[in-house]
Amino acid sequence: MLEVLRRIILEVNGARNLEVALSTMVRRIRKAMLTDVCSFYLYEPEHEQLVLMETIGLRTQSVGHVILPLGEGLVGLVAKREEPLNLEDAQAHPRFCYFASTGEERYFSFLGVPIIHQRRMLGVLVVQQADKRRYNESDEAFLVTMAAQLGGVLAHAIVTGNLNRPGALGGQVTFHGVAASPGMAIGEGVVIAPLADLDSVPDLIPTDQEFEIARLKDAIDHVREDIRAAGERLASRISTQELALFEVYQQMLGEAALYQEVVKRIREGQWAPGALADVVRRHVQYLERVDDDYLSERAADVRDLGRRVLANLQEETVDRPAVYPESTILVGDEISVAMLGEVPRERLGGLVSVNGSSNSHVAIIARAMGIPTVMGVSDLPLPRLNGANVVLDGHRGRLIVRPGEDLETRYRALIKEERAISELLEHEQDLPSCTPDGHEMPLLVNTGLAVDAVASLKPRISGVGLYRTEVSFMVAERFPSEQEQMRLYRDQLESFSPLPVVMRTLDIGGDKDLPYFPINEANPFLGWRGIRVTLDHPEVMMVQLRAMLQASQGLNNLRILLPMVTNVEEVDDALRLLDRAVVELAEDGIEVDRPRVGVMLEVPATLYQLGPLSQRVDFFSVGSNDLTQYLLAVDRNNSRVADLHDACHPAVLSALSRLAIEARALEMPVSVCGELAGDPAGALLLMGMGFDALSMNALSLPRVRAAIRRVSLAAAQQLVDDTLMLDSPQEVRLLLEARLQGWELGHLLPPSTD
Ligand code: PEP
Ligand code: MG
Repeated sequence: MLEVLRRIILEVNGARNLEVALSTMVRRIRKAMLTDVCSFYLYEPEHEQLVLMETIGLRTQSVGHVILPLGEGLVGLVAKREEPLNLEDAQAHPRFCYFASTGEERYFSFLGVPIIHQRRMLGVLVVQQADKRRYNESDEAFLVTMAAQLGGVLAHAIVTGNLNRPGALGGQVTFHGVAASPGMAIGEGVVIAPLADLDSVPDLIPTDQEFEIARLKDAIDHVREDIRAAGERLASRISTQELALFEVYQQMLGEAALYQEVVKRIREGQWAPGALADVVRRHVQYLERVDDDYLSERAADVRDLGRRVLANLQEETVDRPAVYPESTILVGDEISVAMLGEVPRERLGGLVSVNGSSNSHVAIIARAMGIPTVMGVSDLPLPRLNGANVVLDGHRGRLIVRPGEDLETRYRALIKEERAISELLEHEQDLPSCTPDGHEMPLLVNTGLAVDAVASLKPRISGVGLYRTEVSFMVAERFPSEQEQMRLYRDQLESFSPLPVVMRTLDIGGDKDLPYFPINEANPFLGWRGIRVTLDHPEVMMVQLRAMLQASQGLNNLRILLPMVTNVEEVDDALRLLDRAVVELAEDGIEVDRPRVGVMLEVPATLYQLGPLSQRVDFFSVGSNDLTQYLLAVDRNNSRVADLHDACHPAVLSALSRLAIEARALEMPVSVCGELAGDPAGALLLMGMGFDALSMNALSLPRVRAAIRRVSLAAAQQLVDDTLMLDSPQEVRLLLEARLQGWELGHLLPPSTD
């Protein structure tokens, strides 16, 4: 059964459009369940109705014509109740509706299951049988499993179909991901396909078919030659059996088979890479389906060959537009920083990535550069997005493809409004961050990138609250040397001097991998991260500490911050390394004072160890991003649970509030450097709780400063008291929104699209 399931999903997944996906699906299910009818009804949320979209067994003329409002008929009932319905005698059921066009009266038994994806009703799968058959438990289990598996595939296929046939199911489609960098943009999708990935080749209509055919031939010739040469090189080293594979490859690439088919596809109106991808995919699917081990293994060979030819084709085209559209929305499976650099900044409207999270390197850079970004958008039909008109909403983590006129107009207005607000706020950026009742709230910035514009920032801030050293490690190809690090840190310390700069020791692990130091773990966020890694690699930590210390010579504005601390021993060990670094440098004739050291409070355990920690270090800095993740047990990178990662959860707020009170009692300076500090409402809460400083992305400064300058400390304290009475994140958000509106600060909230 598992094998049948796997095959069906593979086929549906590989289908090129909605129709093929659906028709494959119903046919395979009918066959697997040995039943008379299998149909799929699509749920149209905008009309709250179900439409018969595909059937095998009912009259095909009824497709598109049988429509059931939610809750009506058996199918409507399944969708409404969101649970399976298994009937031996469907006609006896009070909800049975008869549609003459289907010829349905002949069928007695009925089994319907809903298809739900990410809580969204997508449709209903139905099997029927002429005689009175009670579908048994295993039938029901099969169909339910099928529906659960098909949810994601179908969500994708529906969208792909939508894009293929605008208007058929409503052209506008919304994809949800993780809000990774705020802001909104309207523009043209430009898909950056990773080289030689058959699944991400965009569809393009060729301007010159003969040229496409000629370069296809060239690419195939090249690959044949490569394979021949490789075969010769390896002839003496591999077995005859393995060598025979080279022969098979040569044959596959031979004139008749692959080449002719791809040429045919080009003549039908596809450019060479797209045509190749289509043909290879079809062959692969076919081979994977056959019940023959030898042949199904050949699927991998065909795919491999396809990729080789594609790589050759792409070398020529490089697959990047010569001129990027005026407002380019870069879309890709994985957007690298290098890709980002290819688009001129003034043309780069936004970023969308299938993989990654708001903490991915690219997202961090995007935020620093002010590029609206949505990450972790699954179900994205990449090839179809090339050239599509899209609206990107980085506040809510949404990508709307082919927006309707009303929606686009609404977003245009919002973007204009947001720009006007930014300009307005800019005027007060040189004014102190001080409440109307005279409370000074120091604002600091989070840095880590060369793009951080220092000069204009300096007079507006009290220092750098978090310099993420790992960013420069992430863009390097090996661990940066002591000298290289020293130069970077010196630059940072000098630029902000005499303001303090809090440098965090290398915080890798979790989702922050170094290409040259991969960490593969089942639960990376609970694994080898931050100080756990650097204490295990004292050579790496010592180089970094020495570089920091040397960089601070004569400036005296360095502070060191330890990430991911769980136990006091880790602090002790780190301090021992720091002391050793100071001594070693002194031995080399470099005299430096030991800088102040702080601990990041981001592992919940530290909240219960503030006393012992305070005896060891000079300050605390709360990493609210990780603290939220660990308190709520929500992976901060997983787009499926992104809605649950909310620093305004009452549990998080209560922990923060207690922590601020305790730190004060211990006379320990405590700041917050997570995203919550950069959110105007969050900043007011943190101020009200009594935190000493807030560190944020430079682009968040204007909104936070504006909020602080308008709300008294007393009012912020009241706000804290009121929010701490609430039971759910939703209630907290509503209260914060209402209060900000009341203070006429509604413009500081993410603009509403309603
Ligand atoms: C945090 O965890 O809140 C934090 C500031 O650090 P990072 O986001 O780099 O993990
Ligand atoms: Mg952290």
